[in-house]
Amino acid sequence: MFDQRIFNFSAGPSMLPLEVLERAGREITNYDGSGMSVMEMSHRSKAFAKIFAQTKEKFRKLMSIPENYEILFLQGGASTQFSAIPLNLMGMTGKADYALTGNFSTSAWKEAKRYGDVAVACSSEDANHSYIPKTVDVRPDASYFYYCGNNTIYGTQWKYIPETGNVPLVCDMSSEICSKPIDVSKFGVIYAGAQKNLAPAGVTLVIVRKDLIGNAMPITPLMLDWKTQADGDSMFNTPPCWCIYILGLVCDWLEEQGGLTGIQKINEAKAKMLYDVLDDTEIFNCHAAKEDRSDMNVTFRTASAELDALFASQAEEQGLSNLKGHRKVGGMRASIYNAMPVEGVEKLCDFIQAFDQQHR
Ligand SMILES: *Cc1c(COP(=O)(O)O)cnc(C)c1O
Repeated sequence: MFDQRIFNFSAGPSMLPLEVLERAGREITNYDGSGMSVMEMSHRSKAFAKIFAQTKEKFRKLMSIPENYEILFLQGGASTQFSAIPLNLMGMTGKADYALTGNFSTSAWKEAKRYGDVAVACSSEDANHSYIPKTVDVRPDASYFYYCGNNTIYGTQWKYIPETGNVPLVCDMSSEICSKPIDVSKFGVIYAGAQKNLAPAGVTLVIVRKDLIGNAMPITPLMLDWKTQADGDSMFNTPPCWCIYILGLVCDWLEEQGGLTGIQKINEAKAKMLYDVLDDTEIFNCHAAKEDRSDMNVTFRTASAELDALFASQAEEQGLSNLKGHRKVGGMRASIYNAMPVEGVEKLCDFIQAFDQQHR
């Protein structure tokens, strides 16, 4: 039992900024003099319409999303977009190319194969997804090229945006969205489940270039067609109101951190601190190739599964929680998203150094 907040290294859902939780707490029974909680409001009410419009605007500004991109707030998680992406885009030429760099991109690829001619543009499966391929093989007539920007389970991250000519880029940014500035105009579609870096589970952000909307295959379920969602401004049915409200508060918090340039500096400093300490130890090794290491999910292990288990359980007792790695990689994983305070990473570094001294 803890009588104060712990440092939660969970891969997702994950930490939210304390200031955001406290503000939501203050407003939980009576939002802005409305006499009710945001959870209780009609999505058609004036009060919620204002929250929605402001959140969308704040998010557009934060990510510098150009006006020729639609922002959709959807449900079904990132995984629902594994189907929506081919259904909305593959009809253009019947072909799509996928980069397989981890579990989620592989699931997306398997799903896409149901809808057309799908090729593997590159893969890191030969080394248990411990690296990011440096070249991609994209067919010029592919409807789109798909990749996952940050591989949550394996702890690798694309440090470059693949060059695909006129083939639209589709990127799953679930575990890196708003962790650094990106040039949205290079992408056809960016999407992300919000529960890693932005909000509670329940809202999925889809940022789609407007000219790519309206190409859905005839079999596309109504709710998976981005045109239905764009025409209804994400309110064809009830949107995830509470999550959208929290997302707005997180956008405010990110602006206070200096926007995405500011949070990038903090994120890079946290990751560097942790990797430097790990590299300095005798007993720990990182899963990811050095040049492809993720700033969001740090995967590492000792030579012994028993020692890994001991590490995770002793860390847990000290309020360093959820450090056990995913079963596909083993070892440990520290997810250090936007909301993980620098002090949390410092405390983890101290713990790693002490553990190394004791067990080397
Ligand atoms: C967590 C995650 C997903 C799955 O998200 P859901 O919202 O649970 O469907 C997909 N892609 C990446 C990169 C993730 O980190």
